[in-house]
Amino acid sequence: MDEFTLIETLIAPRAGQRDDVLLGIGDDGAIVRAPPGEDLVIVADTIVEAVHFPRNFPASEVGYRALAVNLSDVAAMGAEPRWATLGLTMPRSDPDWLRAFVGGLVAAGAAHGIQLVGGDTTRGPLTVTVQVVGTVPAGQALVRHGARPGDRVWVTGTLGDAAAGLTLAMRATGSPLSAGETFLRERFARPTPRVAVGQALRGVATSCIDISDGLVADLGHIARRSGCDAVVFAASLPLSDALRDLDDVYVAHELALTGGDDYELCFTVPMAAEATLRARLAALGERATCVGEIRTGPGTVTVLDAGGEPRAPARGGYRHF
Ligand code: ADP
Ligand code: MG
Repeated sequence: MDEFTLIETLIAPRAGQRDDVLLGIGDDGAIVRAPPGEDLVIVADTIVEAVHFPRNFPASEVGYRALAVNLSDVAAMGAEPRWATLGLTMPRSDPDWLRAFVGGLVAAGAAHGIQLVGGDTTRGPLTVTVQVVGTVPAGQALVRHGARPGDRVWVTGTLGDAAAGLTLAMRATGSPLSAGETFLRERFARPTPRVAVGQALRGVATSCIDISDGLVADLGHIARRSGCDAVVFAASLPLSDALRDLDDVYVAHELALTGGDDYELCFTVPMAAEATLRARLAALGERATCVGEIRTGPGTVTVLDAGGEPRAPARGGYRHF
């Protein structure tokens, strides 16, 4: 199947439909209409086979992850995702693979009403670049640089699951996975971007980031950009039952601190705004846990164990170079 047929038969019919898209797939560019008084938030993320996901990973999970990691960035900005583009590089024209891939992408976007408005298709090693454009009321986007001493540090969901799940995903198939192991693997393959929580944090959080490289590394970005120190209390880390069952608590804490790919939000909130935070989370039926605090300092992150002693993290998060 040639490139145009692939796009026309397998991608365009499943692109979604929004009233604010004046022209979608098929022309040289897409035309969208932004709401007046809103700022645009633009994010992009590339995932590469054998770097971000194992070789021969199921196509639907590649598609799901490619969009979900971008939605997570939009969430971290407190924005509402609207439009996406897809840059797809594949080693061969494989309609079955593409059908499953698009299915995963559509599934990740379904809850958020995204429309795929364009992209580019080329041949080469499997690489997927998704760009998402979202909107936020003018001036209200969440940023990394606003944390202040006295704020407390919060995270959504549970941490460390995806790092454990990646190990399970890479394990040669043979013995079937237990229910707990399946949960962990899903947490890697189909992360849940916290889009509604991100929007609910407007006017409440002083800073926000999504956890793609591990809590210590990503909170480190908030600390550096804000010019403050951050302290994490290891005993407060939210761990899933599945992760606790898989490993001893020290290893589970290590994964929660330095394992990447969780795509939960990490954010800071002044204590005076905590009642509002709790009310907004309760209204959404979402959970967040206070894991630390912001202190005066040059921008470092310290992890304290249950006895209050500093714990040296083994790794500082994933780095490509
Ligand atoms: P051009 O040569 O003008 O760049 P293309 O042949 O690359 O056009 O693309 C034709 C149309 O299909 C464009 O509207 C483009 O946005 C869309 N398109 C191409 N690849 C993809 C893709 N992977 N996903 C979504 N839309 C795509
Ligand atoms: Mg093109």
